[in-house]
Amino acid sequence: MSRPEDRRVHGESMCTLADECGLRHNRARSGCLRRSPASIAALEEVALAKHMALRTIRALLTMLLLAGCTTMVADPAETAKWQILANQATAHFRVAPVSVQPVAGHNSAYLCREGQIRLAIRAGYVRFRLAHELGHHVLHHCGTSYAQELDANVVAIQVLQLWGLSETDAVRETVVFLLEVKKFQGNVQQPGHNVCGEAAALLRRYPSVPDPRMRGDRTCAEEFGGAKS
Ligand SMILES: [Zn+2]
Repeated sequence: MSRPEDRRVHGESMCTLADECGLRHNRARSGCLRRSPASIAALEEVALAKHMALRTIRALLTMLLLAGCTTMVADPAETAKWQILANQATAHFRVAPVSVQPVAGHNSAYLCREGQIRLAIRAGYVRFRLAHELGHHVLHHCGTSYAQELDANVVAIQVLQLWGLSETDAVRETVVFLLEVKKFQGNVQQPGHNVCGEAAALLRRYPSVPDPRMRGDRTCAEEFGGAKS
């Protein structure tokens, strides 16, 4: 069966990298072949240069992925600030120290096997994020579950008090954070999380702390039993 006619003859942009690499192997196939030997040689050099550049870019991307693309280089003074707060908590709760590693993006995490907290230092509510991940560390959590998230929030409130907040302010900061996550992420939440359920559970546990939502705010209305009136 004859091959359909290859109409890609003239336009430079129609000669893809694959076509150009193919020149070396089957010069009869490509419309790009209707060139002088000198121009073909030049084309092959350009193709080779592109090929090498792409390989370099791919290698760099692979290195970034292997290194964990969320890791970032943070101001050492800022990293030290969060590490000192973490050390204060681990000493208070008499657990092993934990290493604080700043990361980009919005997701913080506790890596139980590495003994490391990956802290999203550009995502806001950093103090609470650290307190919550310290809660997982203090409780020796590995893996994810809703029960663990509830317990980590309770320890986070104790950690925030250790850092100087009143109990009311610590609960409020935690609930406000959870409400913000709901507004930001909707129902697409991290495994194990149900931020509205977590926020409502805290307000039930600390009944003297008022619902921090603004009047008429319907965020988490189902779990809170309606909009804030
Ligand atoms: Zn958590």
